[in-house]
Amino acid sequence: MNIAKVIVDVPSSVINQTFDYYIPEKFQDILQPGMRVVIPFGPRKISGFVVKRIKESNYDHLKEIIDVLDVTPVLTAELLKLGKWLANETVSLYITTYQAMLPQVLKSKYEKEVIRLTDIPLIATLEDAFKKKDILSYEETVQLLGSYRQLQHYIENGDLAVQYVVSSKATKQYKVYIVPSHVDILASEHKNLPKQATRQREILKFFIQYPKPIEQKMLYEQLKINKNNLTPLIDKNLLTIKKVEVYRDPYEEKFPKTENLTLTKEQEKAIIPIDEAVKTDMHKTFLLHGVTGSGKTEIYLQAIEKVIQKGKEAIVLVPEIALTPQMVKRFKGRFGSNVAVLHSALSVGEKYDEWRKIQRKEVKVVVGARSAIFAPFENLGIIIIDEEHETTYKQGESPRYHARDVAIKRGEYNNCPVVLGSATPTLESYARGKKGVYHLLTLTKRTNEKEMPTVDIIDMRKELHAGNRTMFSRTLMEKINECLSKKEQIVLLLNRRGYSTFALCRDCGHVEECPHCDISLTYHKRDNVLKCHYCSYESEMPTHCPSCGSDSIRFFGTGTERVEEALTKLIPETKIIRMDVDTTRRKGAHERLLKKFANQEADILLGTQMIAKGLDFENVTLVGVLAADSMLHLPDFRSSEKTFQLITQVSGRAGRHALTGEVIVQSYTPDHYSILLSSNYDYIGFYQREMEIRRTFSYPPYFYLLLVTITHENEQKIYTVAQQIRNMLQHRLNKSSLILGPSPSPITRIKNRFRYQLMIKYRNEPYLQQYMMEILKEFEDERRRDLQIMIDFNPYQLM
Ligand code: ADP
Ligand code: ZN
Ligand code: ZN
Repeated sequence: MNIAKVIVDVPSSVINQTFDYYIPEKFQDILQPGMRVVIPFGPRKISGFVVKRIKESNYDHLKEIIDVLDVTPVLTAELLKLGKWLANETVSLYITTYQAMLPQVLKSKYEKEVIRLTDIPLIATLEDAFKKKDILSYEETVQLLGSYRQLQHYIENGDLAVQYVVSSKATKQYKVYIVPSHVDILASEHKNLPKQATRQREILKFFIQYPKPIEQKMLYEQLKINKNNLTPLIDKNLLTIKKVEVYRDPYEEKFPKTENLTLTKEQEKAIIPIDEAVKTDMHKTFLLHGVTGSGKTEIYLQAIEKVIQKGKEAIVLVPEIALTPQMVKRFKGRFGSNVAVLHSALSVGEKYDEWRKIQRKEVKVVVGARSAIFAPFENLGIIIIDEEHETTYKQGESPRYHARDVAIKRGEYNNCPVVLGSATPTLESYARGKKGVYHLLTLTKRTNEKEMPTVDIIDMRKELHAGNRTMFSRTLMEKINECLSKKEQIVLLLNRRGYSTFALCRDCGHVEECPHCDISLTYHKRDNVLKCHYCSYESEMPTHCPSCGSDSIRFFGTGTERVEEALTKLIPETKIIRMDVDTTRRKGAHERLLKKFANQEADILLGTQMIAKGLDFENVTLVGVLAADSMLHLPDFRSSEKTFQLITQVSGRAGRHALTGEVIVQSYTPDHYSILLSSNYDYIGFYQREMEIRRTFSYPPYFYLLLVTITHENEQKIYTVAQQIRNMLQHRLNKSSLILGPSPSPITRIKNRFRYQLMIKYRNEPYLQQYMMEILKEFEDERRRDLQIMIDFNPYQLM
């Protein structure tokens, strides 16, 4: 078994396979599948993942592995298998997929170094080296030890540790402890010490009284001593030094312990089949459809508790935006330090720490955003996806996977249930629920038995006719003032950022566009610039129209910044917190703003959809949706569904507690079914209506979609390639499958690259992935020369 099959780090579809390498003697007893290695590839040295060890290769003259990067595998057997499946399923490269499963630290190039954790004697060469230096380079250590296996031994024993030198922030941190090694003889040793050795006597006396490890720093402070005072006792082997890894804990606050709530009848009924699946190690996918506030989270918590009791592990996915302290608190409150949290606001080092807790099986639960689905647990007992309809579960770049599909695959592998929860499930999931592919569970009531808040739809066209040119209807202003006088709080949602959407010349109709992308520029008042939201282009706000020279250039549309300004003009004494991409860019800003609002330091929380989810404020009684139709007219077949979801979600923010809530929805198309039905909380009605439309236009869940986007600087080139791809597919696909395009993408140019798309609608094409891989290979040369072909199954980004 001295040959390794390696997936090499060369991002090319023609190299997307394993290569065989000979394992040199020194690595033979340490190398395992799932470890990263350095190998020669052509003239270069590159890294790769070992996926298998085999006895014989079909190739002669194998090259040797140069180095092994890990002491323990970073990918489990399951993840190796999962990655292979996922790469095939999404037509991605194996190397890209494996890398996507790992924390950032392990993806970048880095040096390794070795530190000593104890003063237990090492072999002489190493002992000497550590006398001179605290940290040895990895290569030096291996050389001194003469064998990797020896190094692996020391690491398994906890005497040495390998750390990555990525940046000082990302590497591990240690605390130094002083440990009494022979507690039983401390007293007699104390007696034997000469009278004048006062310091030593003092130290021993301390350890006789408290025979426990103590942090070196504390010991120095308490006894007013230094390292020199300790040395004689360490030499006598009475005390030892030990370094212990400290994890950087991004949630330093302690969360008060919470107990199980007594489940309501509805919750009880819903949890029984989940518990049953946990108990019998059965894979099954549940769709938990429950209105906001119906206690879905409590069901997750109690199901997980049983999983932990069985000694198994749980993955909980929540949308990135919902990973607020409020959500984390509920899991940490119930399961304490058994929980790791993974989301993008953590630093590279913090993410690595959380990941290592999972890898070392020091936690049983991970709560995280999309990529937490790859948590390296090896004994999964449940996977939960909260707010399963959220589009952030789909990764926009390669591998373009949906976390739900990965979850179900892992559920099958681990024989465990998968629970998808939502108040507004995707049509795809609900249809599967109705067909019995998923087991449908329903919660119809809020746990506090409170009705959902009433929703008023305001026809903004009538406002205009009545002479109200502001962006606030008269009803909304009335309600806001009422709320303010009662000292209650308000949430206002606007699904846009920036001061206004675009700058338009009233004389000639010219709209300022980005010179590199076919999209209008957005005015940002704070910096008085026009910005492109697709590339980083910025230009000053022109005073005169660049096209006709007129000075009546004006801003049109509304953005959060503009709403804030208008509102401040109307009610100068209100305090407003604005939350959008611009105000939350800095780390921790998101939490800070929410905390301020929770502490009632402001009356109004104004924001984009990032305020619609998961927030729970006692004093909020009014929710206003300023432009409900802002999404309806996007070129996206999900726009009605997204509108329905957003209105439902944000309505759930009002009146969650003692106070009764109210929702005002402003719209220019108040008769649109997704606005009408969401105001009645009529999910089933919406589902039926939308399904008809999906059927008529051959969209999911009736058809599967594949979006192929081709980009290049030369438009003609793209068109030719797109036509060729179309022809290749046409020969291979079933008659019932549809190929639309090539046609320009809704945003035809980004960063000076033109974009064309092909949309394939199909019901059953078991070889489509394979065809697409062949197509990628066919155009490999062009792709190396700057042609881009993006393949997106089940796309969420259609622009
Ligand atoms: P969802 O996740 O469905 O929106 P939550 O789990 O947030 O609902 O529950 C809403 C509120 O009801 C929370 O404050 C929660 O603590 C409370 N709750 C949940 N289950 C129960 C129960 N069985 N008894 C009392 N309160 C409950
Ligand atoms: Zn641009
Ligand atoms: Zn003009």
